[in-house]
Amino acid sequence: MSHRVMRRWDHVTWPFVQEHRDELVAVLPAGSVEQHGPHLPLGTDVQIPVGIADRLVDEAPEWLRERLIMLPPMHYTYAKHSNWWSGTVNLTGATLIRVLQDISREVFRNGISRLVVINGHMESVAFMEEGVREALEEYPECRALIMNWWDFVPQEVIDEVFGDAWPGWEREHAALTETSLMMALYPDSVRMDDDFRGDETVEEFPYSVLPESPDALPPSGVFADCTEASAATGELILNRVVNEMSPVLKTFLEARGAGGQDS
Ligand SMILES: [Zn+2]
Repeated sequence: MSHRVMRRWDHVTWPFVQEHRDELVAVLPAGSVEQHGPHLPLGTDVQIPVGIADRLVDEAPEWLRERLIMLPPMHYTYAKHSNWWSGTVNLTGATLIRVLQDISREVFRNGISRLVVINGHMESVAFMEEGVREALEEYPECRALIMNWWDFVPQEVIDEVFGDAWPGWEREHAALTETSLMMALYPDSVRMDDDFRGDETVEEFPYSVLPESPDALPPSGVFADCTEASAATGELILNRVVNEMSPVLKTFLEARGAGGQDS
């Protein structure tokens, strides 16, 4: 089945942006460049929100589809919990705040008053929010919507997929949900054969010791069991996330004025 995809910012021309800036809604998929176990690519946290953004468009009514435009995705963020493994490339938190402030400000300076961030990486949430907030202080007539995809997975889906073995979102790194989503969205990118086994789950403590000791980390970089992952589970999660996000996006775009208030 072929899906429609979201219009890309880097594929259109400047006259297009100028002509349509009043209606356009800039969508920024954000993730990380970060280890995701031996079976998933380093760009997993970006590729999932890109896939979700495209599915949102596929499900959207035409008026909405025409308005959405995807900025070049935000790969570099803050994933320092993954520094122990090769391949992770970070910004500092302070830089990340400034980068999000700059991108948001540039969107608003172009006359586009609505920004939607679809995020796939937990550690960078506060830094990104702060950057967007700082840009909004300069452009009080503009508004932003930030959505972390995992917040849109309903509890009944978690219950259906995990039963009583739910490890919690903090452990779901390179684990069942991300692996399943990647299988659904990009089957060729998942390197998981019959020999693949996750690590023993490491013990979890309610505090951080920095820098992390490798003894406290699963050697593979997979933080919870992913061996039951499947494309079917990925499709289930994807469909429900898109179903839950769509009305939030529509409400956000229908509201007028700043500060979350209709006027
Ligand atoms: Zn991830």
